[in-house]
Amino acid sequence: MQPYHSQSIKIYNSLTGEKETFKAINEGHIGMYVCGPTVYSNVHLGNVRTFMSFDVIFRYLKHLGYKVRYVRNITDAGHLENDADVGEDRIAKKARLEEIEPMEVVQRYTVDFHNILNAFNFLPPSIEPTATGHIIEQIELIKTIIDNGFAYVVNGSVYFDVHKFNQTNDYGKLSKRKLEDLIHNTRELDGQSDKKNPQDFALWKRAEPQHIMRWPSPWSDGFPGWHLECTAMSTKYLGEHFDIHGGGMDLKFPHHECEIAQNEAAKGQTPVNYWMHANMLIMNGKKMAKSTGNYILPGEIFTGNNSNISKAFSPSVARFFMLQAHYRSILDFTNDGLLAAEKGFNRLMDALSILDGLKASNTSSLDINNWKQKCYDAMNDDFNSPILIAQLFEAVKYINQIKEGSESISIEDLVLLKQTLHTFIFDVLGLENVTEIASGSDKLSGTVEVLIKLRQEARANKDFALSDKIRDELSEIGIQLKDGKDGTTFSIN
Ligand code: AMP
Ligand code: ZN
Repeated sequence: MQPYHSQSIKIYNSLTGEKETFKAINEGHIGMYVCGPTVYSNVHLGNVRTFMSFDVIFRYLKHLGYKVRYVRNITDAGHLENDADVGEDRIAKKARLEEIEPMEVVQRYTVDFHNILNAFNFLPPSIEPTATGHIIEQIELIKTIIDNGFAYVVNGSVYFDVHKFNQTNDYGKLSKRKLEDLIHNTRELDGQSDKKNPQDFALWKRAEPQHIMRWPSPWSDGFPGWHLECTAMSTKYLGEHFDIHGGGMDLKFPHHECEIAQNEAAKGQTPVNYWMHANMLIMNGKKMAKSTGNYILPGEIFTGNNSNISKAFSPSVARFFMLQAHYRSILDFTNDGLLAAEKGFNRLMDALSILDGLKASNTSSLDINNWKQKCYDAMNDDFNSPILIAQLFEAVKYINQIKEGSESISIEDLVLLKQTLHTFIFDVLGLENVTEIASGSDKLSGTVEVLIKLRQEARANKDFALSDKIRDELSEIGIQLKDGKDGTTFSIN
């Protein structure tokens, strides 16, 4: 029996606005698609938060025994400035400014994305498809949407006919918008005169002569609209009807609304059972965003090199900080919040070492089974990580009480307590117990953690020469790495 048989998960579905009991389309299997980054710049901590929310969801579903196919794409074409249908492609613009090939931009920031996610101990998705690798699938989808009468061709570009679609379907059902309101609120932008209506969106755009990212199609040499790639890739790998689609709250409209419209127009059915949206990380009262300069990079957190923070923090402390908020709540990034998270995280790690030395009694005065179920209940209730963390601190209290002798624990319960704590702290929340350096040098600690991550990556790629080199060279300067079952720790001679 898999654990999911005994646990019932409730998921807040953005489509219905309600918490619903989760039921997989195919018993024991889950298909989950999450919109990935547009790789035109370094990911900031806000981006990381959204992906972390889904990393924890992925981890928990896997822990329950589901076979999860987790698809998270890389947007490497078609995403224009201002999320609109006019303007420069974000990647092409960066390539122009830096005088490099667009694919060099893509390569550079995809590598950065992977390095950062590895530093935060993310699990890799099952499939990570790219928009440019699926141009043919996108062209096929456009043909079907045209054949079904929901798109029209003008001057080599193809637009989705939102008004026609809305006659038979409900455009706006995800973001709870009405087409009439959209009509009143849409500004007519320059260059959109090809459209029948300003609410229509591009499926294919004819490339201007200076536009370098272009592909042949039946309509023109051009490029696909941003929303189309996710429809093409999600249904290619998860089927026309799949379980979970996620992304940041800011993608609900227009991106996800348009995904639903494209799917219904092409396949005649709504693609997703549960739409999940993660809330934003804010800083200084505003959304963290590259475009406004109001952001902090993960590397700056590991080194302390940013005026918004007083010192360096390890990836696990930053992870712990973010998971102390529920994924649907806004989270305010503050130095005080990080300092408090560091204290809490260290208290949890200290409790784990005390736990290793605890002596069992003949009987238990504590109900560990009941506590364990409360941990599951927290995650079953729409993946409520802050409530789970509160339960972990209940266990810290028990551990201290057992140590002081005011509570007792049997050997079976001691094993259960240890197992459950390890499961939730390391497997589900994805935290890592990296030994703090006795000298207290956080910068050094952060740097060694990054090197440990790079070595793990090298080993995963079977690049043992590199992984050995990292270990040996650290050893030469007196830093010893030790591989254990909960990851790699290090000590300084
Ligand atoms: P982008 O590369 O801009 O498409 O963004 C990648 C992901 O990060 C999307 O799911 C966004 O919703 C998410 N995101 C962007 N800014 C923030 C933020 N401040 N807080 C949380 N998630 C964000
Ligand atoms: Zn998407």
